[in-house]
Parts: sequence; structure tokens; C-alpha cells
Amino acid sequence: MKYYYYNKNTDNKGNHEVHSSDCNYLPSDPNRVLIGYEVDCKSAIARAKRDTGKTNFDGCYYCSRTCHTG
Ligand SMILES: [Zn+2]
Repeated sequence: MKYYYYNKNTDNKGNHEVHSSDCNYLPSDPNRVLIGYEVDCKSAIARAKRDTGKTNFDGCYYCSRTCHTG
């Protein structure tokens, strides 16, 4: 289990990147939103979608590669 965050800002594909708390590319504090304590990136993204009503989330290439769609 890890804490997951998403970037408040969207990337060049219009997605909010999702990171685990131990990622080297975790956005700085003002630029990230806590999703919660989740078992994996898939679960974190599902929760972010539920919480925000948005669908544009993508896993970080470095920490959440199994959820990274490009
Ligand atoms: Zn990351």
C-alpha cells in the first residue's frame, strides 16, 4: 500500500499524472492532490475518477508504469 497523488496540472496529452508518494517525479506540494492510501496505481486511478468525476488520469511512467498509457 502506498499514498498516491495526482498532478493538479494536466500533461501535454490532457491527463493528470498519478504518482506514488515515493516517486522522484512527484509534483511539488502546491501542484499535487492526495488521492489516498491505495494498493496500486490502478486502484488509485479508479478512486481519483470516483472522487473527481473526471476520467483523464494516467499513471506516471516511472512509478506507475503498469497504469501508464502514454
Ligand atoms: Zn511518478
